[in-house]
Amino acid sequence: MEWTRSETLALALHNCTSCRGLGLRIGKRGGINPCNCALRNIFRACYKRFRYCHEKEKHLTRATIEFVPGKDRRMAWGRKDEEYCADFLLVAKRTLTPEEHKLFTFHYLLGADWKLCCTRLDIDRGLFFHAAYRVEQKLGKVFRELTPYALYPLSDYFHSTRPNVRAIPTDSIATGQVFPIRPPLSGYRRASQQEDAPFLRAA
Ligand SMILES: [Zn+2]
Repeated sequence: MEWTRSETLALALHNCTSCRGLGLRIGKRGGINPCNCALRNIFRACYKRFRYCHEKEKHLTRATIEFVPGKDRRMAWGRKDEEYCADFLLVAKRTLTPEEHKLFTFHYLLGADWKLCCTRLDIDRGLFFHAAYRVEQKLGKVFRELTPYALYPLSDYFHSTRPNVRAIPTDSIATGQVFPIRPPLSGYRRASQQEDAPFLRAA
């Protein structure tokens, strides 16, 4: 995906020395990359929502119905809070290295502070905070760039319908056959148009 300033401006720290509050910085190969301060803020927003979904009373969760466009055009039931928690945990497990995931579990899921984590992981304070920042940046980037359903922006995850995925017949790709956008008119419709034609000409 392409990162734009309008997306990162509100996420960046105004006193960041890397991006000067813009949320974007020029990479080593000349490309435009999101700044780490914006990525960390994406992670923190997702983490805050994860805690909210996890800690709120279970009787407050509810099933929501959402429209699934496409060939079937059906309605589907889902439990968004539980789906979000599962996505959050599984994406973290898939993205992080075993050492990083251990820190993620202790600090972010089990709530251990830096002293406990340093004792348990046998690292010093500096290494702990460097690793924690690295975890936040990694996950913030993945949460935003995840396809087809990114975890961030949260409003899109929780309140939008699924994108319209249209199935294309595979044989038409091979033969290069072009399908009409609208189906051919039925015989009845053609006949009615011919009957209307004299009136239209008279008008
Ligand atoms: Zn920055």
